[in-house]
Amino acid sequence: MENRPDSAESYDLFVIGGGINGCGIARDAAGRGLSVALAEMNDLASATSSASTKLFHGGLRYLEYFEVRLVRESLIERETLMRAMPHISWPMRFVLPFHKDMRFESSTPTSKILNTVMPWMKGRRPSWLIRLGLFMYDNLGGRKILPGTKTLDLKNAPEGRPLDDRFRHAFEYSDCWVQDSRLVVLNARDAELRGAEIMPRTKVTVAERDGDGWRIEVEDRETGAARSIRAKVLVNAGGPWAGDIIRTKIRSNSTETVRLVRGSHIVCRKLYDHDKCYFFQGTDGRIIFAIPYEQDFTLIGTTDSEQEDPDKRPECTPEERDYLLNFASNYFKRDLTPEDVVWTYSGVRPLYDDGASSATAATRDYTLKIDDAGGAPVLNIFGGKITTYRRLAESAMEKIAPFFDDLKGKWTAGVTLPGGDFEVREARDKMKTLAADYPFLGDKQAERMIRHYGTESWHILGDATEAGDLGRDFGHGLTEAEVRWQMDREYARAADDVVFRRTRLGLRMTPDEIAALDAWMQDARREGRATAAS
Ligand SMILES: Cc1cc2nc3c(=O)[nH]c(=O)nc-3n(C[C@H](O)[C@H](O)[C@H](O)COP(=O)(O)OP(=O)(O)OC[C@H]3O[C@@H](n4cnc5c(N)ncnc54)[C@H](O)[C@@H]3O)c2cc1C
Repeated sequence: MENRPDSAESYDLFVIGGGINGCGIARDAAGRGLSVALAEMNDLASATSSASTKLFHGGLRYLEYFEVRLVRESLIERETLMRAMPHISWPMRFVLPFHKDMRFESSTPTSKILNTVMPWMKGRRPSWLIRLGLFMYDNLGGRKILPGTKTLDLKNAPEGRPLDDRFRHAFEYSDCWVQDSRLVVLNARDAELRGAEIMPRTKVTVAERDGDGWRIEVEDRETGAARSIRAKVLVNAGGPWAGDIIRTKIRSNSTETVRLVRGSHIVCRKLYDHDKCYFFQGTDGRIIFAIPYEQDFTLIGTTDSEQEDPDKRPECTPEERDYLLNFASNYFKRDLTPEDVVWTYSGVRPLYDDGASSATAATRDYTLKIDDAGGAPVLNIFGGKITTYRRLAESAMEKIAPFFDDLKGKWTAGVTLPGGDFEVREARDKMKTLAADYPFLGDKQAERMIRHYGTESWHILGDATEAGDLGRDFGHGLTEAEVRWQMDREYARAADDVVFRRTRLGLRMTPDEIAALDAWMQDARREGRATAAS
């Protein structure tokens, strides 16, 4: 990269931020024929979009807050998304244990109504109300693939075995899992395949209105090289930094901002043997999930804590860890202790600041604001969920359409992401076929490959007939062939990109194994640069 402030390249659209919203917008815009560039200051999905609970869900909890629009849109969207990416997303069943004496926080809109019309319940939830909520959840939005709600007798069902004996009944309903970082990377790749320029590790330092467009200064975080780019429309998809971008990069007078709410997760060694999740309700109005994770683990989260500074790396505090352990221990037969925890992670929700009193109550819906008061337009993105990223991108296109002649219409519903060109119900067959085509892989590794790369697994494994044909083995099934694929096609530059985002093998690898991978990647990059230069 060179410094060329006077010969700026020009794009229709420049996107700041390589999280799910930025990459989703870049893909949608590129597919509509716009010239697009996207800058991400670190790795793609390095911030909130790799730290979610990883659910495509309607958000059962939001019904308590009457966020019906958000829930309905998300419910419809779950199946649209799963069809477009049946490799990295799949159906999951959620078990919601219920006990008649459970009490709940009194300040949600639902609690307030209940306290007025049924004061004798004193904060308890009648089971018919939960069933009603699940009836709405089943029927609000176009459910075709996912099975509906049923009741479970926990005394006899295997799902009751890990739970405390006082839980005798549960409801079981559907939502979906998604590999969040891979979702981001695949959107970026698809955007690039449609002509977008994706610039990871590139920070936007200044964005200024210049004539009828924008002049954007970017800095390569690895080399320090600066570059100047012009664009007609700017999109601020900076997530937790959206407010900071408005104030310090664009230097606008707008007072709109994001409310930063940290959420932490703990990962324990597998706590139970079946493949369903638990939905646990607490007396503080919060809920947590316990989810089967990466074949051998259980993921528990999340928390809601205010965070002031987007630049402060979010971390799971000991208080948050203990809160999650205690919360889950109220439900499981055995008490969980800090020794059960093998890993934690934390992310910051960039919520639209709607003035809500508590972090839990702040809206999870998204808000898009065009600011063209100073001339050229910038679209600021606030809030949003992984589940709504595709719809958010469509709304973003609607907002910017007036600034382009004849912008093409919606196209992303029903168009698969790379590797996702098969039916949801065919995933198991794909795993079996891959294991048969490459017998040296074994079933677990075949499942991991399909769940990460789908039909592109065959491209990665090529004509290998034995494990040695895939090059160096970095441990736990991670081979040179897979790492090269991620470096060549998925923008991976360092070991953390590979083992904590594009895969989660970092859960199993030792620090020495990760360091050896990193050293190998840096050598490979140097060799690649030397070959390109000669
Ligand atoms: C704990 C937790 C659990 C969640 N669980 C779920 C869930 O289960 N399901 C669901 O649907 N949603 C969930 N969410 C919400 C979802 O994760 C977020 O809404 C979503 O990831 C936000 O994406 P984003 O692209 O807006 O932000 P981010 O992913 O944070 O991306 C913004 C990017 O902008 C970059 N950036 C900032 N400034 C600059 C600059 N100057 N130059 C270049 N780049 C810049 C940052 O580096 C960052 O990568 C959860 C969120 C949290 C925190």
